[in-house]
Amino acid sequence: MQLLSSKNRPQIIDHLQTNEFDLVVVGGGITGAGIALDAASRGLSVALVEQYDFASGTSSRSTKLIHGGLRYLKQFEISLVREVGRERAIVHRLAPHLVVAEKMLLPLIEGGSYGKWATSFGLAVYDFLADVQGDDRRVMLSREDTLEMEPLLRKDLVVGGGLYAEYRTDDARLTIEIIKTAANHQATSLNYTRAEDLLYNEEGRICGLKCKDLIADREFDIRAKYVVSAAGPWVDKVRKKDNSLKGKHLYPTKGVHIVVPHERFPIRHTVYFDVPDGRMIFAVRRHRVTYIGTTDTPYTGDLNHVVTNQEDVDYLLNGVNNMFPDVNLNTNDVESSWAGLRPLIFEEGKSASELSRKDEIFESDSGLLSIAGGKLTGYRKMAERIVNRVVKKYAKNYDRDFGPSVTEKIYLTGGSFEDSAAVQQYKARLKPRIADKGLSNYYLDYLVHNYGKQTDEILDRMEQFKDSPETALVRAEAWFTVHKELSASLRDFFLRRSGRLYFNRPSIPPTLDQILTDFKSYLGWDEQRAKKEYDQLKQELFEAAHFRYSDSEAP
Ligand code: FAD
Repeated sequence: MQLLSSKNRPQIIDHLQTNEFDLVVVGGGITGAGIALDAASRGLSVALVEQYDFASGTSSRSTKLIHGGLRYLKQFEISLVREVGRERAIVHRLAPHLVVAEKMLLPLIEGGSYGKWATSFGLAVYDFLADVQGDDRRVMLSREDTLEMEPLLRKDLVVGGGLYAEYRTDDARLTIEIIKTAANHQATSLNYTRAEDLLYNEEGRICGLKCKDLIADREFDIRAKYVVSAAGPWVDKVRKKDNSLKGKHLYPTKGVHIVVPHERFPIRHTVYFDVPDGRMIFAVRRHRVTYIGTTDTPYTGDLNHVVTNQEDVDYLLNGVNNMFPDVNLNTNDVESSWAGLRPLIFEEGKSASELSRKDEIFESDSGLLSIAGGKLTGYRKMAERIVNRVVKKYAKNYDRDFGPSVTEKIYLTGGSFEDSAAVQQYKARLKPRIADKGLSNYYLDYLVHNYGKQTDEILDRMEQFKDSPETALVRAEAWFTVHKELSASLRDFFLRRSGRLYFNRPSIPPTLDQILTDFKSYLGWDEQRAKKEYDQLKQELFEAAHFRYSDSEAP
């Protein structure tokens, strides 16, 4: 059975409810996806349920960097920096088309977060901890070199700069490729399936989930020997269902990013710069846009509906206009945005920015394992740690050994390239094909960075659609994501599979009606469902670019 086609939902559900699994995972963000892959590739039978779409929680709303977290060095989180620093290179190797090397420019300013010598030393330590080699090692720059690299920077403030190496990714695509790779190891994952309740045996041990298929509005059970909750900001809600919410708890903080056309903020590099309140934010160039983020504020609102407020936008625009005074960005320049919640663990007396990004595992009396905190970058290690716990219990209770994690050696789907040079060769081979199809070079980068080697399949699929090149491409992508990536709604496709709603918004209106028609035919939507989908996408488009002040701070 094709485990990744939305057309097969009934069969997938049948499989989920008729088998007992070794492990069931709650949550289809990067953490849950990583756990499913780690466990399935060791030989456990695995099920994963996600209440909305994969990566629809925090894992599509990050800064989209696979980074060591330079900032955490300042907080002396040495082991965290070492671990995620080293993980960067591993994740890059597993999907070099999707986790792309990116130089970061850190301008040094009079009275800024980082002094010249501290930066030079800090970046050297950062490279050392992460075992960064050769040309990727940090370079310190003079004032003149810094301004030549980034002429838009504020000339009266900049006193020098540091250039260091990180990686850029697409968090939602990374999550979906991990889900797909896990499926290649027989893990069964399903979106729009909420764990409504937990199931217990006579001894009070957790033994599965009562789930609800939110599309068909039907309940069913999944039985499993072990249950892991990787529910991100919702982790405490699942612990509450288990009556085990005591001791440490989550403290979600909100982070917002805004997107402007690159021509309105034409940086040449990703820049990590000081803002007036003493924090630092990123400006990241990505194809036709520049995105800017992030904010970091405590959050107590609705976990299921986190929006960008006008004060978030003001904060980021002020930050840019302060450091790049000739740019003069304003709200009308904002083409799109996203807002997400960091699932951080509360620590007495610390502000949002000071809270540790380390992950923690909680185990309840019933045997529920929960994992919270952490970073996108560290997903593989987080997964390894919690699956180690599961296999240890398994060995003790069932006398079966599954061995250590093997994910360091498993290429992610779409990414079996030897290295970045192989990605470049693949691009060079595709270039004439893309031109033959009547598509611009923009789509070469876009397709290869999003889909890797799966681009060939998408281009083949274009043959079926006798439309303009752009429309045929969007239709081919939509076909691919419905049949191969469990895309079940317009939002899944336009936000998380293709990233068009964030990074190529103008491409949506000309194709929307056609894509709606395609989804209707693929998934058998009636008129009522089609209208609901259309309205939800419109709402999403609206909220990404229209902002109001939060009630308490309304002007
Ligand atoms: P989530 O992605 O939220 O996944 C949890 C999932 O569980 C959700 O999809 C949710 O719907 C599902 N769920 C909850 N309850 C249930 C239920 N009952 N049944 C079924 N499913 C359920 N990290 C980096 O490494 N690099 C960065 O650049 C970076 N930038 C960031 C910027 C911001 C603004 C934020 C907020 C975070 C950033 N992070 C970054 C951190 C990183 O994004 C998170 O650590 C990571 O995405 C968390 O993933 P997760 O899977 O634990 O949570």
